[in-house]
Amino acid sequence: MPDLESQPFWDALRDGKLLLQRCLDCKGSFFYARPFCPTCWSDRVEWFEASGKGTLYTYSVVYSNDLPPFGERVPYIAAVVDLEEGPRIQTNVVECEFDALAVDLPVEVVFQPISDEITIPVFRPA
Ligand SMILES: [Zn+2]
Repeated sequence: MPDLESQPFWDALRDGKLLLQRCLDCKGSFFYARPFCPTCWSDRVEWFEASGKGTLYTYSVVYSNDLPPFGERVPYIAAVVDLEEGPRIQTNVVECEFDALAVDLPVEVVFQPISDEITIPVFRPA
């Protein structure tokens, strides 16, 4: 759900860009959107465009989910991806045979519109 803090992230996704934030003091990158650095608590943070590249940290093939709208999407791949810049992101893997899934699989972002307002970042094998 977009809010004041995360609006730049959602706006960029509609334009095909994945944004992260970084700290101007300790130089760490982080996700999700916050007005301060989760490492050193500095409020000197900025947005930057991520490469969209990463590796699969973990995954699960979901065959049953009663929570709308996921029931109509099964089976799907729930995943956590380690982005090249460091942060981890909860996501889905798409365009991938289940047998091809593997920890450390190189992946790249795909921008998936789910409404007029919201585009979500999902990942496919690179
Ligand atoms: Zn910091």
